[in-house]
Amino acid sequence: MQVWKFGGTSVGKPERMHSIRTLITADDSTKIVVLSALSGTTNALLSISESLKGNHDDEAAEKIEHLKAHYNSFIRDLYKTTTGLTKGQQIVENEFSYIRSLMRVKPFTPKQEKELVAEGELLSTQMFQSYLEEQGESSLLLPALEFMRIDADGEPELDYIERKLREMLRPHNDKQIIVTQGFIARNPRGEVDNLKRGGSDYTASLIGGAIRAEEIQIWTDIDGMHNNDPRIVKNTFPIRELTFEEAAELAYFGAKILHPSTITPARKYGVPVRLKNTMDPAAPGTLIADRTAAGAASDQVFKAVAAKDGITALYIHSLRMLNAYGFLRRIFEIFEKHKTPVDMLATSEVSVSVTIDDTSKLKDITDELSAFCDLEEPDYDQTIICIVGNFSADYAGIAAQVLSALRNIPIRMISYGGTEHNLSLLLHSRYKAEALNALNDGLFRPQN
Ligand code: ADP
Ligand code: ASP
Ligand code: MG
Repeated sequence: MQVWKFGGTSVGKPERMHSIRTLITADDSTKIVVLSALSGTTNALLSISESLKGNHDDEAAEKIEHLKAHYNSFIRDLYKTTTGLTKGQQIVENEFSYIRSLMRVKPFTPKQEKELVAEGELLSTQMFQSYLEEQGESSLLLPALEFMRIDADGEPELDYIERKLREMLRPHNDKQIIVTQGFIARNPRGEVDNLKRGGSDYTASLIGGAIRAEEIQIWTDIDGMHNNDPRIVKNTFPIRELTFEEAAELAYFGAKILHPSTITPARKYGVPVRLKNTMDPAAPGTLIADRTAAGAASDQVFKAVAAKDGITALYIHSLRMLNAYGFLRRIFEIFEKHKTPVDMLATSEVSVSVTIDDTSKLKDITDELSAFCDLEEPDYDQTIICIVGNFSADYAGIAAQVLSALRNIPIRMISYGGTEHNLSLLLHSRYKAEALNALNDGLFRPQN
């Protein structure tokens, strides 16, 4: 069985849903099809939530009606029969009356916000599956809220997901297409929750891992993982093969094409991930697999660059000066206690600099560090630039080539040697675009 995920732009227009039907029914294999919300919907729902949080109910009501009008016009072009359209109208009416009912809950809390934002995926999947039904395709809608569960830290509960999913799929092995929602999940309180922005990729990978799928395919609006951020740099090109490790680094460090955690379940269960372009299905895309399966391109030194914004750098000095053993342990225990991951690290004998992206516990962390450290003022608005490739310790000149490309840009931190395939740099976000372009010119030759 394969798992195919289609993102917002891939389902964002009725004709795209028509093409997806053609794609997923082109052969007889059984597929689990994970859908995101229609493009723009999650943002629209969050904007309605903002209005409700600010008690601007009239504004929220106006936004809801505007969104509903979009869905009404969408379904008119999606369905081909009056029976199909009637079903589509029922779906839209039901979900929007639920959305309106959320407006009346006072105060409007994060719990309601999560219920509201889940409506995007609940709408797109019901609409698409009823369109498949209208077209006589053998299909089933599997409610993600019944098998996708996260723990109190927001981490997916893999054993539960696997057990529940297998149990729910068992009676339906006659169905060819199983449609489900990306992004949404339930938390330990049984409430509607989600896997954070872009989380449908993660859903696909969690399902693919749970059922030990043959392959997970992520269908989006670009022909695979590019060597650099195509929104910022011209002349980027698709990379045909990546290892799980390389792809995980790129996703974690900002390549928006994949949710940061997507690779984890796929890698755990050894399920290959293929990135494909809905607008150009014949394009080869990118295959992400283990080193042997994806190894063909691994002799290339520089493979790709990604950037992660919103980083804060902390500069921590030991009060004891030299030979301060135990210093790092004490520091990291504090980050662990506050469940705050550290992304980058640079050390000297008496100091350590770290970066974090979650600053929700920053005050507690710095208060506790101050008990045994000198702290400099943190640097905010930083960007990590992550360069991925084959940086064997036996090669000379890799760091030189990177630093030479960035010779005109101030760099705050460098991390090299954590693995043989990553070199990361920290700089102020104002230099990000210049740095990504300079690296493109210095490390890659345009291929097409
Ligand atoms: P979807 O809605 O299908 O999930 P996303 O917008 O989340 O799609 O991700 C696809 C987008 O990611 C592309 O259109 C591209 O602009 C952006 N992107 C950023 N970095 C990269 C990269 N290295 N390779 C490919 N796409 C990237
Ligand atoms: N609809 C959600 C979002 O916009 C999840 C996704 O698209 O992957 O973040
Ligand atoms: Mg996405």
